[in-house]
Amino acid sequence: MKVGFVNIFGKPNAGKSTLLNALLGEKLAIISPKVQTTRHRIKGIITTEDYQVIFSDTPGIIEPKYKLHEKMMNAVKEALEDADVAVLLYDLTENDPADTHELFAALKLRVPAIVVCNKSDKVSREQVDTVLDFFSRQPYCKEPIAISAINGVNVASLVKTVVELLPEGEPFFEGDEITDLPTRFFVGEIIREKIYQLYEEEIPYHTTVLVQEFKEKPPMIKIQADIIVQRETQKGIILGGGGKGIKALGIAARADIEKFLGQKVFLELFVKVKPKWRDNDLYLKEYGYR
Ligand code: GDP
Ligand code: MG
Repeated sequence: MKVGFVNIFGKPNAGKSTLLNALLGEKLAIISPKVQTTRHRIKGIITTEDYQVIFSDTPGIIEPKYKLHEKMMNAVKEALEDADVAVLLYDLTENDPADTHELFAALKLRVPAIVVCNKSDKVSREQVDTVLDFFSRQPYCKEPIAISAINGVNVASLVKTVVELLPEGEPFFEGDEITDLPTRFFVGEIIREKIYQLYEEEIPYHTTVLVQEFKEKPPMIKIQADIIVQRETQKGIILGGGGKGIKALGIAARADIEKFLGQKVFLELFVKVKPKWRDNDLYLKEYGYR
């Protein structure tokens, strides 16, 4: 079986989100937005009898008017090389690939990369061919391919090309695993991360998060989470004067959860005191620690 991770990289608006949706819209797709490590922001898993591809957005965010800042490029490069294959997304409506080519070349990738030229529906066949020819001559490009993510055109053949470049291996995920549990856990992790960022050193260590409700209510997702602390005093600190603390926490967490889920979220947080939860096996199990 061919198995591997594929990271998608591209300027804002190149169509990364659209491509992910198109990829996961494939009939064979099993979608499970769960996270293996904090490095892999897994967005979608496609599993068939012959392969499992785990697609992910690159964590390195590219500013629209970036300079080729070395540090940033390193972060992006690192993120991309976390994967077995990199998908470098080019927006055909840019007309001139020179600029994006510089960006791709500066990455000096050591993993095979496919240059995916998106929005083929917006330009002429001749333009597509010129750009494909251009990228096919670049050393970092294993293979160029033109797609229209929005119409799903050539997306299946992109998957085929990707799969050919993946190593043989055992699947990382169950093929039939469709559950919101991993999403819940990740949502809990985001809230936990914000607690680390917003509260003094000791508080986060006395705190855990339990997502109690995760319900799709189009166009929103309703999430209710409990923040578990050990003492009343800690509850007071989490809430903050006039509830200021928990309000800030909710705002920060919601922003990141929405980013991760790609959907609007209604987030409700409660603080609960469970004395000595950290020493209680039953609590620990309930909170997902094994
Ligand atoms: P991202 O910032 O890279 O995630 O880009 P998005 O997926 O959000 O897409 C940016 C814009 O490009 C949106 O308006 C999409 O509808 C549009 N877009 C994406 N793929 C295509 C495509 O294949 N054809 C056309 N015409 N538009 C596309
Ligand atoms: Mg996007």
